Amino acid sequence: MLKDQDRIFTNLYGMYDRSLKGAMARGHWDGTADLIAKGRDWIIQEMKDSGLRGRGGAGFPTGLKWSFMPKESDGRPHYLVINADESEPATCKDREIMRHDPHTLIEGALIASFAMGAHASYIYIRGEYIREREALQAAIDEAYDKGMLGKNAAGSGWDFDLYLAHGAGAYICGEETALIESLEGKKGMPRMKPPFPAGAGLYGCPTTVNNVESIAVVPTILRRGASWFASFGRPNNAGTKLMGLTGHVNTPCVFEEQMSLTVREIIEKHGGGIRGGWDNLKAIIPGGASCPILPKEKLEDAIFDFDWMRENQSSFGTGCMIVMDKSVDVVKAVWRLSAFFKHESCGQCTPCREGTGWMMRVMDRLVKGEAEVEEIDMLLSVTKQVEGHTICALGDAAAWPIQGLIRHFRDEIEDRIRIHKGGRVSLTAAE
Ligand code: SF4
Repeated sequence: MLKDQDRIFTNLYGMYDRSLKGAMARGHWDGTADLIAKGRDWIIQEMKDSGLRGRGGAGFPTGLKWSFMPKESDGRPHYLVINADESEPATCKDREIMRHDPHTLIEGALIASFAMGAHASYIYIRGEYIREREALQAAIDEAYDKGMLGKNAAGSGWDFDLYLAHGAGAYICGEETALIESLEGKKGMPRMKPPFPAGAGLYGCPTTVNNVESIAVVPTILRRGASWFASFGRPNNAGTKLMGLTGHVNTPCVFEEQMSLTVREIIEKHGGGIRGGWDNLKAIIPGGASCPILPKEKLEDAIFDFDWMRENQSSFGTGCMIVMDKSVDVVKAVWRLSAFFKHESCGQCTPCREGTGWMMRVMDRLVKGEAEVEEIDMLLSVTKQVEGHTICALGDAAAWPIQGLIRHFRDEIEDRIRIHKGGRVSLTAAE
C-alpha cells in the first residue's frame, strides 16, 4: 500500500490551501528552474526511465511520446495540449487535480512544454467542469502574477504561456485529434492519422496531447527521480496512479495508490468492500466504459494494472472502476453503454455511425429477451466488423463492452431469451 510520503497529490480532497503559497508549502514549484536547467534530453530520458504510461486510458509511454516531437523547430511553433476533457463514464480523477491541486498541473505543463520545445500550452477542459475551470483559471492567474508563467517562467529563462480552453461537452472531444479540431474552433471530429499530431497537430504544428494526470506527475517524478517512481508496480506498469471506485462499494472514492495491487485489495482498502460482502460481487468494468466487463470468477487474484487487464481481455483504461454487485442486470448495464456510444458517435464514418445504433437496438432486444439465440452470434460478428474499421477508437470502444458481455455472460442472455419465449417472466423494457 502506498505510504503518505510517497503521494504525489497531497491535496486531493481539498483539505489544504490550494493557492500557490499552499502548493509551495507542500513542495510544489521547488527548484523548477533547476530541473529545466538540466535540459530537454535529461527530462525526456528521466520520463522514459520512470516508466510512466499515459494516464488518460491508452497507456502509451509518456517519455516516448514526447521524444516524437521534432528536436529543432522548422519555424513552426510547438505546442503541448493537455487533455482535461474527462468524459469517460465513472472517471472523475483529473477533476480533483484541477480543483484541489492545480499547481501540480501548471508546473508540469511548464516543464513538459520546455522538454518539447513549446512556448505555449493549451488545457482543454470539458464543458461540464465549470467549478474546475474556475479553480484552474484562478491558479493560472496567480501563477502569472507571481512570475511562474509568462516571460522567464519561474526564473527558468523559458518564456511560457498557458491557456485554458473550455469545451462544450462532447465525449468525442477527448479523442486527441477531435480535441485539436475543437481547439481550432471547428466541429470536434477526429482526424485521419497519419499525420500524427507530433508532425502536424494544432494549427498544423508539432503537438503532443497528454492527459492531465500524466502532466501533473512530471515535476514530482523529476524531483524524486525516475527510479523512485519506477519502484512502484510491476515492470511495465510503474508508478502511483489516481484511481476511482464507483458503484456498489461501501465508500466510493478517488484515491492515489500504487499500481499492480490486486483488484480485491483496492476494493477492500479504498472502497470499504462490496455492498453485502465480496461474495455479492458480480462484475467490474475496470477503467472506463470501453473496458470489457470482467466477472467475479476472474477477479479473485486479478491484478489492477495495464498488463494483467490486457492479458485477460479487458483494459486498465483510466483506472476508475465501476463495481457491480449481484443486483445488477449486466445485460441492461451494457445496453446503457451502447446507448452512450451511439449518442456520442460523431457520425463521420459509416461503421461507427450505423454500427453503434444497430448494436444498441439489438442490445435493447436482448435486454427484453425479444430475440433469437442466433442473434447473439450475429451481434458478435457485427462488433468485429465495427472494431478496427473506423477513424478513431470510439468504434472499438462501442464494440468491446458487448464482446465482454457475450464472452462472460452469454448464459444470462440466452436464459433471458428462453424465459421470454416460455412466457414465464415479463421483463420490463430497457429505458
Ligand atoms: Fe466519429 Fe465514430 Fe468515426 Fe470516431 S469512429 S470518427 S466517433 S464516426
